[in-house]
Amino acid sequence: MGRQSEASQRQSNDGSGQGVIDSALVVTAVGAVLVLSGVALHQELGDSLRWALLLAGAALVLGLLYLAWRVRWKAIEARQLAEDLRQTRARLSASLWGSGEGLWIWDLQRRELQSIAASDVTNTRIAFTVSEQEWRDRIVHPEDFALIREALAALVDGRDEIYDREYRARNTEGEWVWIRARGRITEWDEQGLPIEVAGTYRLCGDARERAEQRRISVEIVRLMSEAVTVTTPDFRFVQVNPAFTRITGYAADEILGTDAVVLNSPRQEPGRFAAMREALLRSGEWRGEMWQRHRDGRDFLAALEIREVLDGQGRRSHFLAVLEDVTERRRAEQTLRYLASHDMLTGLPNRSLMVQRLQQWLLQSRRRGTQLALLFLDLDRFKHVNDSLGHAAGDELLRQVARRISDTVGHRDRTARLGGDEFTVVLPDVYGLDQVQHLADALIDAFAAPIQLEAQEFMISPSIGIALFPEHAGSVEGLLKCADEAMYQAKRRGRNIAQIYSPELASGSSQRTQIESALRRALDQDELRLVYQPKLDVASRRITGVEALLRWHSERLGEVPPDAFIPVAEDTGLILPIGEWVLRQGLAQLARWQQDPALAGLHMAINVSAAQVHRGDFTAMVQSLLSSQGVPPEQLELEITESVLMSDPLQGSLVGGDLRRLGVRICIDDFGTGYSSLSYLQRLSIDRLKIDQSFVQAIDGAGDGGVLASTMILMAHSLGLSVVAEGVCSREQWHYLLNEHCDEIQGYLVSPPLEVAECEAFLRAHRQGFELAPEESAELIA
Ligand code: C2E
Ligand code: MG
Ligand code: MG
Repeated sequence: MGRQSEASQRQSNDGSGQGVIDSALVVTAVGAVLVLSGVALHQELGDSLRWALLLAGAALVLGLLYLAWRVRWKAIEARQLAEDLRQTRARLSASLWGSGEGLWIWDLQRRELQSIAASDVTNTRIAFTVSEQEWRDRIVHPEDFALIREALAALVDGRDEIYDREYRARNTEGEWVWIRARGRITEWDEQGLPIEVAGTYRLCGDARERAEQRRISVEIVRLMSEAVTVTTPDFRFVQVNPAFTRITGYAADEILGTDAVVLNSPRQEPGRFAAMREALLRSGEWRGEMWQRHRDGRDFLAALEIREVLDGQGRRSHFLAVLEDVTERRRAEQTLRYLASHDMLTGLPNRSLMVQRLQQWLLQSRRRGTQLALLFLDLDRFKHVNDSLGHAAGDELLRQVARRISDTVGHRDRTARLGGDEFTVVLPDVYGLDQVQHLADALIDAFAAPIQLEAQEFMISPSIGIALFPEHAGSVEGLLKCADEAMYQAKRRGRNIAQIYSPELASGSSQRTQIESALRRALDQDELRLVYQPKLDVASRRITGVEALLRWHSERLGEVPPDAFIPVAEDTGLILPIGEWVLRQGLAQLARWQQDPALAGLHMAINVSAAQVHRGDFTAMVQSLLSSQGVPPEQLELEITESVLMSDPLQGSLVGGDLRRLGVRICIDDFGTGYSSLSYLQRLSIDRLKIDQSFVQAIDGAGDGGVLASTMILMAHSLGLSVVAEGVCSREQWHYLLNEHCDEIQGYLVSPPLEVAECEAFLRAHRQGFELAPEESAELIA
């Protein structure tokens, strides 16, 4: 029912009641006059009494008439008042309607809220009174309640003079609408405590749109993967989103009201938190990374951005923080940085990190006026490991080598792998050459023991080049170049040694480049020749053959040893024409000796490289040379290193098979360094093994140094292969090998490689029976 109709009903009720009173009074007055007139007219009464009664009757009539008039007047007055009130309400309503606002009064004693509003503007209740409890539970949006409560508390506590908040409230249709409420304290009790707060409220400007926007914003915050928190200016949580719970482990209801200090991690240096709060209070914002502690005690790295929020009066009301767990991201970045600066195989710093550090060390040395040494290590014959055992074994070997180097150096950050089998070591503060030499010796010694790969042991050695700052170069590139050249010098001097850079040996461009360009002309300029090293049959003490060894006297570079130029020839493909030349030259020599009855029937061993063997026409070439020179095939022995046969097993056995069918003998050179397995050897078409000189040298060593050589001999014999030991240079080795039934020996003990004429003389002298020189004169060329 509408208020207006209620009022008119009440009005009509009031009107009819008044009529009854009025009629009752008139009837009473008429009745009284009639009674009094009757009494007064009675004959028995005296005149004076009659008059008195008449007067009393008249007075009563007048009195009753006055009464009737008063009652009527009061009723008119009351009607007027009701009308006034109605008009006032209508005016208030109209003015509220005009302003679009509602009134609210909060009675702090009765804990009630009253509201009056122009209905169709706010679509909220026109006038109602609710308890605080009801207001909170049914009208205010639960997410906004904390903010309102806090603002009202600030007003009541006297911290704020004006209350001014926007929040969501439910309207009569049950929808959430955004309301802006303003108010202040309007009444205090005798003690000065507030008992009433009153003010106005209205729908926020373009309310629906803003409500929609806010709803979207709230939804965004809810769905955000970053944690969003709202705290009071003294850092107590007022609001958190679901991501916060996911990231920190704290549910909203257990964290609200708590100080944000609960998230501090002891992993973060303590001063940092205080500094952050200080900065926030001072400037209102902070951004950075900070270790935080999850509810379960785990620490995580958080990227934090915190900003103050200002209220309508421009005062700081809250802090808003966005927090993201970046632990994994930082870890991934670190890994990336690590990957970019480290060698994945060995875990050592890579070239770029090494160069970077070397630059810093150089600066430091320059400042301090100290020396710095750069050691460049390259593994000897590493390619053989890769070729024969495959890359997985090669990788494992490199890992172990890296470990040995860094263990010897003691500082992991001073060792680096440049790539392949190249490593560097930096000595940042050198106080004397002894120190450098000492380190180089220690590095060489570190490779004295074999490396264990799966079930096998392998010997590997480094060649080391050393360059010094400031003597040899003043820059990183210069030092690297010098150390690289010194390393080649070490290789040329026979590997497994350290060589300090010497400008005389490597003037101008890199030695390797020089070798390459000079080697291209070596054949045309007739700079190559062969020398021959005799081989002795141990049992018969007869010289049975020679090994042809290549020599190069370069016009530009002087005598260049095969270890220095053969790898270059192999890398550049020059080994093909050179190898063919060696075969032709060696067979021609053999053919010449064949003519001499004293020298006829000698065998000649010729070394061949992988590239030669793997060429499809190798067998055909050998066959045509043999027939053109008229040499019986069985007098030719081809020395192929183990790695060549193993690099392509099928090809290796095919080639071996083809050559064997020709009648040529096949010998595995440098046996023991190429790591073939027994079962594999069985499948190859080979005739003999040549034990690498490192195993022969070991015979002289203490303990059971010869065990490996003995095992190889036994193994070869069990496979029906004959055995040659190379590099024999002591009587002890000779006797040992004799005892172990080694078939042939080759080495300085018998003879060094000889020029053709010398070799011929030697053969003539010793072919039929070789005797060792007397003991005292047997001091051999090392
Ligand atoms: P290799 O085939 O194992 O040759 C044996 C090497 O040991 C030769 O070095 C020889 O001079 C040296 N030697 C011989 N007896 C002793 C000794 O008692 N003590 C010591 N310390 N060394 C001894 P060289 O002539 O410098 O040859 C080195 C390597 O160069 C050869 O090793 C071979 O692999 C390669 N090579 C030489 N000539 C040729 C060739 O014509 N073609 C190919 N492809 N490679 C060749
Ligand atoms: Mg050889
Ligand atoms: Mg050899």
